[in-house]
Amino acid sequence: MKEIYYDNSATTKIDPRVLEAMLPFLQDSFSNPSSLHSFGKVARNAVELARQQIAECVGAQPHEILFTSCGTESDNWAIKSTAYARRDRGMHLITSCIEHPAVLNCFAFLEREGFSASLLPVDKYGRVSVDDLRAFISPGTTVVSVMMANNEVGTIQDVKLLAEVAHEHSVVMHTDAVQAIGHIPVNVIDLGVDLLSASAHKFNGPKGVGFLYKRAGISLPSMMDGGHQEFGVRGGTENVAGIVGMACALNNHVTNLRQNICHIDRLATLIRSRVLAYIPEAKFNGCPSQRLPGLISLSLVGVSAESVLHLLDLKRIFVSTGAACNSRNTAISHVLQALNLPIDHSVGTLRISLSKDTTEAEALTIADTIVSLYFKLYK
Ligand code: PLP
Repeated sequence: MKEIYYDNSATTKIDPRVLEAMLPFLQDSFSNPSSLHSFGKVARNAVELARQQIAECVGAQPHEILFTSCGTESDNWAIKSTAYARRDRGMHLITSCIEHPAVLNCFAFLEREGFSASLLPVDKYGRVSVDDLRAFISPGTTVVSVMMANNEVGTIQDVKLLAEVAHEHSVVMHTDAVQAIGHIPVNVIDLGVDLLSASAHKFNGPKGVGFLYKRAGISLPSMMDGGHQEFGVRGGTENVAGIVGMACALNNHVTNLRQNICHIDRLATLIRSRVLAYIPEAKFNGCPSQRLPGLISLSLVGVSAESVLHLLDLKRIFVSTGAACNSRNTAISHVLQALNLPIDHSVGTLRISLSKDTTEAEALTIADTIVSLYFKLYK
């Protein structure tokens, strides 16, 4: 039975071109980029070329790209280090109530450290309001962190506008772009953000590598003390193969972005309309006019999404019922709660996340299989 993978928001398959680009650095060119000999230079050049490529992909300068081990590390570094660095200006931080745990738990940690945190509410589509941000900012506010795109319902925030408001009050703006980057246009200059987090495994790169964009002039103390790597702010020998793979993966996505969006959007529309044709009471969550093209959050009222997930699994079709980090937790996710969905909607919510490699035949298969399982399970 052929597997059909619809959990691309959790992680993606490494692109063969990415693997090919990485292999030399896992095999013959295994040198340490910090070594002074010419063999070391090979790895150093590869890391710096990757930095340049990633910077070009997001509209940054190479020295504004800092390599990390994952999106979680990028979020922790951005939020905690900025909060501490600006402690003399104030102790108030703002985020949204639908952030990934990588952000929410940084705020919870900082609250335990004596900072105060405000959580912006969202509307029924998962959108943060800029007026709420204005109302929440106080003279002691130092950091705002709002995700670019949500990992459960796909809603895209107006980060550019939120950054403008933050800057009117001299507040540092961070965005977690882990779900957005490679899937929708991301340009740090257009967005006007100070800090932006990304993770390679969400765009067909390897796991265990990410980056943090830090606008020149923003002070970001080290979270990882050690050697002089990453301009002296993140010690540790670089994950050369991972970094090279991440640059290749992002470059592939950015080069083909329009084409990929068109393809994914067409298949997502096909799935939605086919499900609705048979189940008119099905609901799709997130903001219809501002959402990730490939993320379908589908609520099947009257069935348990978990049962659907397990029955799909038996057919080797893989979906999710919420965020990957939540998948063992049967409690309603904080995102669906924030959207104020009725309980039966939440219990019946599946996340189907497509990729550039999803085919039309696979899209039809998932739609038809979900419809038939719904009629089998519906009580
Ligand atoms: N932020 C968001 C929005 C995510 O979806 C994820 C992962 O699912 C992360 C952060 C964490 O990224 P990583 O798995 O690279 O640590």
